[in-house]
Amino acid sequence: MPTPASGYAAPSADAPLEPFSFSRRDPGPRDVAIDILFCGVCHSDVHTARSEWSGTLYPCVPGHEIVGRVRAVGGEVTRFAPGDAVGVGCMVDSCRECASCRDGEEQYCTGSGFVGTYNGPDPAMGGHTFGGYADHVVVDQDFVLRVGHDEAELAAVAPLLCAGITTYSPLRHWKVGPGQRVGVVGLGGLGHMGVKIAAAMGAEVVVFTTSPGKKQDALRLGAADAVVSKDADAMAAQEGSFDFVLNTVAAPLDLDLYLRLLKRDGTMVLVGVPAEPHQSPDVGNLVFRRRALAGSLIGGVRETQEMLDFCRERGITSDIELIPMDGINEAYDRMVRSDVKYRFVIDMGTLPGADGATVR
Ligand code: NAP
Ligand code: ZN
Ligand code: ZN
Repeated sequence: MPTPASGYAAPSADAPLEPFSFSRRDPGPRDVAIDILFCGVCHSDVHTARSEWSGTLYPCVPGHEIVGRVRAVGGEVTRFAPGDAVGVGCMVDSCRECASCRDGEEQYCTGSGFVGTYNGPDPAMGGHTFGGYADHVVVDQDFVLRVGHDEAELAAVAPLLCAGITTYSPLRHWKVGPGQRVGVVGLGGLGHMGVKIAAAMGAEVVVFTTSPGKKQDALRLGAADAVVSKDADAMAAQEGSFDFVLNTVAAPLDLDLYLRLLKRDGTMVLVGVPAEPHQSPDVGNLVFRRRALAGSLIGGVRETQEMLDFCRERGITSDIELIPMDGINEAYDRMVRSDVKYRFVIDMGTLPGADGATVR
C-alpha cells in the first residue's frame, strides 16, 4: 500500500504553487524512507515549475536539496538506520550500467538517463517523480547521502545537495587550487557556494556581480575582490588574469565579457542554464588565447558525499533565509529579481502532514 504524502505543487506553468496530496511507494528492500526536515530552493525549481525549459510534467512538486531524517529502511539496507540525518540531491536513480554510471558520474548516464528527484519517470508509482517540497520521500539507498554536520546546521546544509555539488564538481574537475585566480560570475545560490568552496580549495576568488550591494558580502564569503560587471573600466582592468571562471548566471549573457577575463589556456565553465540561449561567443576570443568554454552538470553520488565531507571538515554551510512552505511563491519572485541572500530553504515543519500532524 502506498503511503499518503503531502507537499506543494505547481498545477501548471503559470499558476502559483499550492498544497498537494499524493502517494509515495512503501519502502522496498533497498529503499530508505526519509522524513524531510528542510528543502533548499534552487533556480532550477523555478525554471521547471514555470516550464521555462519546456517538458515539465504537472502537477510538479519541485525540490532537490533535501535534508531529512531516516524514518524506516528496507531489509537489504546496510548503510542507513532510522534516526540518521541524510540528504538527497538532484537524482534518485540511473541505469547503473553505462560507462558514466560505472565511473560514478551518474548525472551523465547515457543508458536510461538519470532519474531526476522531480519531473523524472517513476516506474514504482507510475507517472513522474515528485521532489522535496513534501513531508517525506522514499529513495534507493545508493542515492542517499550521509550528513555529518551538527544538528543545528541541517537547514544550512540542504543547499549543498545541489548548489554545493554543482560548484564543487567543476572546481575539482578543473583542479582549482592554491596559486590560481578564480572568477565567480553571479552571487546567488550557486555563486555563493562557489566562492566558499573555491576559497577553501586555496584559490584567490573574485566575484563578478550585477548587484553593487553584494560586494561586501562577497568579501565576507571569502572573495579577495568583487567587481560590478556593468562597470566597463573595472572589467577591463581584470582582463587576462584568471585561470578559471565559474559562470552561474541564470540569464542570457554576453559571454565574451567573461571569456576576456581568462589567461591563455584558461577555462570558463557554464553551470547556469538560462531559458533563452546566450549569444554565440566571438571565436577570436577563444582561439587567440587557447581559451576553453565548457559546461558541467551537478556531480555524481560519490563526489556529492566527498563534497559534504569536505564542507563538514571545513565548517562550510550555505547562507540561508529560512521560509515557511506557504512563502514559496514570494521566494520564487524574489529569486528571479536576484534578491536572495543567498539561498531560500523551506522549513518543512511548516507543512501540515498528510494526517494533519507536522513531520517533526
Ligand atoms: P540564483 O540564486 O537566482 O543566482 C543567479 C545569480 O545570477 C543572481 O543572483 C545574479 O547574481 C545573477 N544574475 C541573474 N540575472 C542576471 C543577469 N541578467 N545578468 C547577469 N547576472 C545575473 O540561481 P541559482 O540557483 O544559483 O542557479 C543559477 C543557474 O544555475 C540556474 O539557471 C539554474 O537552473 C542553474 N543550475 C545548474 C545546475 C547544473 O548542474 N549545471 C545545477 C543547479 C542549478 P548577481 O546579483 O550577483 O549578479
Ligand atoms: Zn538545483
Ligand atoms: Zn547509466
